[in-house]
Amino acid sequence: MVIGSTGSIGRQTLEVVKAQECLLVIGISCGHNIELVTQQVDIHRPRFVASLRKDPSLQVCFPRTRFFWGSKGIEELLDAARPDLVMISVPGVAGLRYSLRAAEVSGRICLANKETLVCGGRVFLDAVQKNGVELIPVDSEHSAVFQLLEGDVKPREIFITASGGAVRDLKKAELQEITAAQVLKHPVWSMGKKVTIDSATMVNKGLEVIEAHYLFGLPQERILTFMCRNSVIHGGVIYEDGTVKLHAGVPDMKIPISYSLNHPERRPMDTEFDLTSESLLLEDIDEDKYPALSLAREITGHHARQIAYNAADEISVEAFLAGRIRFARVFGIISSTIQRIDLHAPTSYNEIMEIDRTARIIAEEEVLRCSSL
Ligand code: MG
Repeated sequence: MVIGSTGSIGRQTLEVVKAQECLLVIGISCGHNIELVTQQVDIHRPRFVASLRKDPSLQVCFPRTRFFWGSKGIEELLDAARPDLVMISVPGVAGLRYSLRAAEVSGRICLANKETLVCGGRVFLDAVQKNGVELIPVDSEHSAVFQLLEGDVKPREIFITASGGAVRDLKKAELQEITAAQVLKHPVWSMGKKVTIDSATMVNKGLEVIEAHYLFGLPQERILTFMCRNSVIHGGVIYEDGTVKLHAGVPDMKIPISYSLNHPERRPMDTEFDLTSESLLLEDIDEDKYPALSLAREITGHHARQIAYNAADEISVEAFLAGRIRFARVFGIISSTIQRIDLHAPTSYNEIMEIDRTARIIAEEEVLRCSSL
């Protein structure tokens, strides 16, 4: 089952499944892209489909498919289908709700939604443990570390890499005036707008450090971050004896997607990595230039602050894309929002969402303050 089948990861997941003929798609869900979901239903013929936007003509086109509509549709879809495997590829904090339900009804969660771990924290991990569901990360860096750690002794440290985004060669002062169009030109990965901006601010890497903390049970100081300009090294592990294992390959999301679906098997892919033509080079990240990464490290493990970090980032990225604030303000808004949030650690989904709502209101106030400056 693919939750979020019309987004980038969702589309690629369906392509992998189609090419490998390894799995049967029992259900898919989408938001508002009726045109694309119609094509997907036509190709994959899932028994169940959930769509945020109600469109009764779909039911007429596909009488053998059961449709669920509206905001409760995805949970109803999960309950009805009880799939062996769920790919969670929706963006945003909504993904947490679906991941929690998937933990109850399915055998494996392939996780491509960052908020599930950043906002869900222990609440989500407890649900995973209680239900005995397998959790396989899809994000390329976490997939890399997950693969390297399999069947091995505990490492001293792990690391994940960052490409640095489109503005990595600009000086800190130059970053003040850049436009959304400049930031959106990502050098390696082709991704959604939000994550492309997050790559440029390194909020994306900050969120990934937090995710890695929960996935691999390590304190943040043992989760290193390096810049890899061509994104061919995705992650690595470092052992007590000084041995370093690197995970390298073509930067193509279909590879970690396929791994998460087929684990512990590997299926052939039509990508070939030329070891002699690509440089395998890591560089330190200048955390002075990317304060959002240091901030994420400071708050790793502080659940309420993680939720605020994520919410404030979403609000400020939207404001930047809308031309309401300058690029350099994104960090300030996140940082002020975190300082203003109540530190009480949430113990349930409802408490998490309450903190998320409050953080968004605070972040919106901070945006207004910045835009009036
Ligand atoms: Mg990533």
